[in-house]
Amino acid sequence: MRKIVIAIDGHSSTGKSTVAKRLAKALEYVYVDTGAMYRAVTLYALEHGCISDSSDDLETLIKSLDDIRLRFEYNPETLQSEIHLNGENVEHKIRTLEVSRYVSKIAAIPEVRKKLVEQQQEMGKEKGVVMDGRDIGTVVFPNAELKFFMTASAKKRADRRFKELLERGEQVTYEEVLKNVQERDMLDSSRTVSPLVKAEDAIPFDNTSMGHEEQFRIIHQKSLEVIND
Ligand code: C5P
Repeated sequence: MRKIVIAIDGHSSTGKSTVAKRLAKALEYVYVDTGAMYRAVTLYALEHGCISDSSDDLETLIKSLDDIRLRFEYNPETLQSEIHLNGENVEHKIRTLEVSRYVSKIAAIPEVRKKLVEQQQEMGKEKGVVMDGRDIGTVVFPNAELKFFMTASAKKRADRRFKELLERGEQVTYEEVLKNVQERDMLDSSRTVSPLVKAEDAIPFDNTSMGHEEQFRIIHQKSLEVIND
């Protein structure tokens, strides 16, 4: 099968990763969760005291960027590729609401974006990749053969995220999750470097009233059309 780059961008908690993972598996492509990379840098910043509610030391974080090693490794137990930060599997730790609260601030730092975008371009250079994020179709792979831009109502997205966090045993309220989803969208869309915008040639995809199955069917079908074109 021809190898192409498939970019899936969009708002927070639109289910991008669920559909992207399944698509990659069906096409036998590599899946790259770029949000996990920004989350892992945020976890590093939290663990090293570079960011907190009271003060930020982003200069130290920028100076430490060369010490931050990120790698995706396949976990045969979960059958997923999971992110490792300096050799530690942090797939679980990066999904907390605490990391979600700070990640958009870290993702707005140009030096952080430069480093992660370079790594993402390297991971996709052989093509045969499904990458999800915010700037894949605009910055990382502006020439991607197929681009989707996913969205859904904020309420629907907060509902989904709230359920996920409860399943993970986090103590959160629905209102906190809704506020976080809305704040991240606002920060991601208004930052100066690589803001969250739909690429002109991306296919808009509103999944407010769609289940996983229907979304997968449409996206998979479209991917096959482009691959076999
Ligand atoms: O996709 P996920 O919600 O895990 O991403 C977490 C955060 O990482 C986003 O809210 C955004 O601030 C940042 N991000 C980004 N660019 C990407 C992927 C994620 O700025 N390509």
